[in-house]
Amino acid sequence: MDYSEALKYIQESGYKLTNKRKEMIRIFFNHDYIFSAKIIFDFMKVHYPAISIDTIYRNLNLFKQLSLIHHTEFQKQTYYYRNRMENSFYGHIICMKCRSIKSVVMNSSRTLVPYLCFSVSSYKFEIYGRCTKC
Ligand SMILES: [Zn+2]
Repeated sequence: MDYSEALKYIQESGYKLTNKRKEMIRIFFNHDYIFSAKIIFDFMKVHYPAISIDTIYRNLNLFKQLSLIHHTEFQKQTYYYRNRMENSFYGHIICMKCRSIKSVVMNSSRTLVPYLCFSVSSYKFEIYGRCTKC
């Protein structure tokens, strides 16, 4: 799903496509990083000085509900990042220093899931470390 498809998806799901929502989605599509709500808030304040942190959380929750973004706990804080790999089994590699994030597709879902005799409702696979730049 690209940026414009994400915007369309929000509308088709019955939600208003406000300029603030567009801008927040743009942040996630333009940067391969994990973001705290506070960082998103600081980004948004540049264009919307009167925006509240509640609006940020409300929109983050909406995007999560629509599966446009994921969240993760990292160093005792919640971070949000874009869901890049719908319809495949994937994980994420997160740099603990610069907070960059890369997606990795795993090819073991077909062998692993039946072997476990387990109905998967959700999963999370994250590897933490340092990227090559750090
Ligand atoms: Zn890094």
